[in-house]
Amino acid sequence: MLLTRSFLLCRSSQLAVQNAAFSTTCRAEKSYQLLVVGGGAGGCATAAKFSSKLGKGKVAVIEPADMHYYQPMWTLVGGGMKKLEDSGKPMSQVLPKKADWIKQRVVSFNPEQNTVRTEDGQDVGYEYLVLAMGLQLNYHQIKGLPEAFETPGVCSNYSPLYVNKTLASLENFHQGNAVFTFPATPIKCAGAPQKIMYISEEYFRKHGKRDKANIIYNTSLPVIFGIKKYADALWEVVKARDITVNLRSNLIEVKPESREAVFQNLDQPDELTTYEYEMLHVTPPMSTPDVLRECPKLVDAGGFLDVNKHTLQHIKFPNIFGIGDCTNIPTSKTAAAVAGQVGVLRKNLSMAMQGQTPRHLYDGYTSCPLVTGYSKCILAEFDMDGNPLETFPINQGKERRTMFHLKKDMMPPMYWLGMLNGYWEGPKYLRKLMHLGMK
Ligand SMILES: Cc1cc2nc3c(=O)[nH]c(=O)nc-3n(C[C@H](O)[C@H](O)[C@H](O)COP(=O)(O)OP(=O)(O)OC[C@H]3O[C@@H](n4cnc5c(N)ncnc54)[C@H](O)[C@@H]3O)c2cc1C
Repeated sequence: MLLTRSFLLCRSSQLAVQNAAFSTTCRAEKSYQLLVVGGGAGGCATAAKFSSKLGKGKVAVIEPADMHYYQPMWTLVGGGMKKLEDSGKPMSQVLPKKADWIKQRVVSFNPEQNTVRTEDGQDVGYEYLVLAMGLQLNYHQIKGLPEAFETPGVCSNYSPLYVNKTLASLENFHQGNAVFTFPATPIKCAGAPQKIMYISEEYFRKHGKRDKANIIYNTSLPVIFGIKKYADALWEVVKARDITVNLRSNLIEVKPESREAVFQNLDQPDELTTYEYEMLHVTPPMSTPDVLRECPKLVDAGGFLDVNKHTLQHIKFPNIFGIGDCTNIPTSKTAAAVAGQVGVLRKNLSMAMQGQTPRHLYDGYTSCPLVTGYSKCILAEFDMDGNPLETFPINQGKERRTMFHLKKDMMPPMYWLGMLNGYWEGPKYLRKLMHLGMK
């Protein structure tokens, strides 16, 4: 019935009672109790939870990609510790079997009619909508960059297209500047731009090239990391390893012919500095996908999905929820944050479906395993207010081998088996257990 192509009128009387502020009728070719847009970390986990709860045919995921990538692994791929192939699985294998997969891209939203339109012109209806669309990589916003990726030494761990160029750039490095960038926009995993720098520094040491490499971290941010405890630890690392850090320095142009990168001082915009590079690792500016960013009914002034940061429910449309990187929840955008949000979303969306007001609150838990080389890691974990929220009863602000192996060997199976199947909701209970009897 759900797959019929004839137009049908769908109604959600329960919602109509609950909130008259949005229209509950939609004209759509297909309609679902729950529609999820995006089959990445958040979308896949949400669909797994709700399709097993609501049953076959009630949930659909709209997702155009053939492959699902475990993106946190790309830091290790860039350093040659994992292969790109290890980081991806066919989307057909990871999306839940009980959910319909609509292999399309959403091209417009109509939240008043409870429909979305896909690239092939279909309107898909819903009673409830979860947006999990992640972030778009805007490499094209840096002058000369798309062309520069065609030349040696320019790489980026942020895309499967360019991540293999990182190891190649390390292998082919002779001498000169190795420059690592952080853009002037919110990004996913704010630690990743510097993780690959520490890995590169150790790579150069291991391969006898360290004395020929001048390592420079140019970041648009006014700090090395947003949470003081971990920032203090990272300043110690950069000092000990002779790395130059330039704050408020934003990449605006790459000149591949002369192998130069131009940076703007964000505090004095007329001041430009040009660096010759032997290696340039670029973290691109990011935004929500254009289709979402350009839908003013759904987004805030910054173009992010406008949700209540604690309940994850949309500010204007109570039958819409958001999860992950595309939302304006003021916490660091990571898969770990998505795990923390999944449990809250499960409870709050279920309450909304029963006509109740969502009352479960997300604390902003997020985590960033700050890999500082081939065997060490500082496991940053913190909440929405920037307070450390550490799982283990040890000082996680120190570089540790155990945390490195947690990141490299344990987190991937936790993601594939636990999180994507809807079982892993973050370390909240483990943390409580680990701190039993402690203040
Ligand atoms: C190099 C790197 C290192 C990282 N390291 C870590 C780490 O160590 N720890 C950590 O926790 N996190 C890390 N992350 C971040 C983590 O991968 C993301 O935060 C997480 O994947 C966000 O999940 P999401 O569901 O919001 O978005 P995504 O997983 O990106 O999924 C978004 C999905 O939406 C789909 N989509 C987009 N537009 C449309 C459309 N118009 N129609 C339909 N579907 C659409 C996309 O195809 C995609 O599948 C890292 C990321 C990178 C790139």
